[in-house]
Amino acid sequence: MEKLFEIAARLDEMQTNLSKLSWVQYTSGYDFGIEKAYKEINDFLEDKNNYELVSEYMKRDLDPVNRRRVEIFYNTIRSYHLSDELNELNEKIQKKTNELSMILNTFRFKLDGKEVSSVELTQILSNEDNRELRKKAYFARNQINQPLVEGGFIDLINMRKEYATLYGDKDFVEYSLKQNELSPTIFNNWENELKPYIDKLNSKRQEYARKFLNGDEMMPWDEDYIMAKIAPIQNRTVDMSNYYETLRKFFLNFGLDLDKFNITYDIFSRKNKSEWGYNFPIKDGVDSRILANVKNKYHEYKVLLHETGHGIHSFLLKPEEILLNQGVSGIIAEGIANLFGGFLYDEMFYRNFFDKSVELQLKELAEYNKLNYLRFIGSIFFDHELYRNEINSLQDIENLYFKVFEDLFGDKPFDDAPPFAYRIHYTTHPIYMHNYFMGDVTCEMIRKVFCKKYGVNSVTEKPKEFGDFLINEVINPSGLYKYEELFQRISGEEFSLKWYLE
Ligand SMILES: [Zn+2]
Repeated sequence: MEKLFEIAARLDEMQTNLSKLSWVQYTSGYDFGIEKAYKEINDFLEDKNNYELVSEYMKRDLDPVNRRRVEIFYNTIRSYHLSDELNELNEKIQKKTNELSMILNTFRFKLDGKEVSSVELTQILSNEDNRELRKKAYFARNQINQPLVEGGFIDLINMRKEYATLYGDKDFVEYSLKQNELSPTIFNNWENELKPYIDKLNSKRQEYARKFLNGDEMMPWDEDYIMAKIAPIQNRTVDMSNYYETLRKFFLNFGLDLDKFNITYDIFSRKNKSEWGYNFPIKDGVDSRILANVKNKYHEYKVLLHETGHGIHSFLLKPEEILLNQGVSGIIAEGIANLFGGFLYDEMFYRNFFDKSVELQLKELAEYNKLNYLRFIGSIFFDHELYRNEINSLQDIENLYFKVFEDLFGDKPFDDAPPFAYRIHYTTHPIYMHNYFMGDVTCEMIRKVFCKKYGVNSVTEKPKEFGDFLINEVINPSGLYKYEELFQRISGEEFSLKWYLE
């Protein structure tokens, strides 16, 4: 296997380089050669010698772990040896994605002609009592739809469609799911399974609208506001200058010491810095970096907990297992990150700031958040539909958006364009958002399995044991099995939304 490990290590080095360049672009807006870094990787993957080497290993009789390692590499390299046309198209897609990503990272919204940051818009949506002002802030986010389409977003969608067809898959959704080792049918039953819960969600929303809005309907521009009403404490100003010690102390409960890991944080806003939150897994077990934009609000710790969860996950993987680490499903990665993000509402974390008197409001918020998160499935399905319908104009995209949300939740179209493009995933990470939701389904499953096994009601009763359980039962085997297999190994049952819904 030595030769295979050697080329895997070379590829890993190039990907590490690309990841570092992306970090610079996202944190400062500078591009120090991302296209060249992509080209280097493409050339390497297109190299016939490398392909022949991997193909030769595929023919060997190998033990299951080595078989898995070879398969992971083979899945990465195979698509580069089908046709020149596919390779050219792939390069065009990468180039366009990078161009649009620059537009997204440097774009700034305006409110009444004045530049306003994403964090500021979120604060208006959360705190402003005047509904019309909230509505204005909500629709400010649609300002980037047009520039993104002018930059070539529709071309990008069409190129991806063409790529999937040339590749031989039914559509880009099927192509992406298969590339991520998921069954293309995995979403087939969701609408049916969700139906009764969406009714429950809609009546809960109506109940809150009556309580806090004096109306019958909660609109998207009321969401953050209502959440702030349910749990005002989440908007409490907290000093974040000591964020690192706060996080370190929290993760020590699970026997995880951040001081042992090399995680870099860049958490305050700057010009030309991306306005969202990310973890850049520069190199597993060696270097992990976190980008966020916080302004001293308690709820912003959720992003730091989530992204730190990614960082810790990366350091719990074995750095020398380059191939198996590549085989870790994005769902497992987001599941672990969301698991830690969820502690925002738990005493184990909030006790750093508040006493027990906040328990009820945070509990109610956590419950409502869980139910309301079903609305995120609208964004997941809208992403799918972009690749299953003909798109020729921004108007087509907007109509499709309204249709998806109407079919799923019974929403009526707005009188203004829906904000969609600001969510970078449609551009940079297509067919990815299910990872967050399925990650939550997975962490509910993990929690329930742990509590049953250890006879506890909450993982916080035995945090050290839970830390070990996570490492031994989830993280260690996570590269060895495809997601659906891993889910079944841990839970004893097939993947199903019921773990989340029931
Ligand atoms: Zn994440």
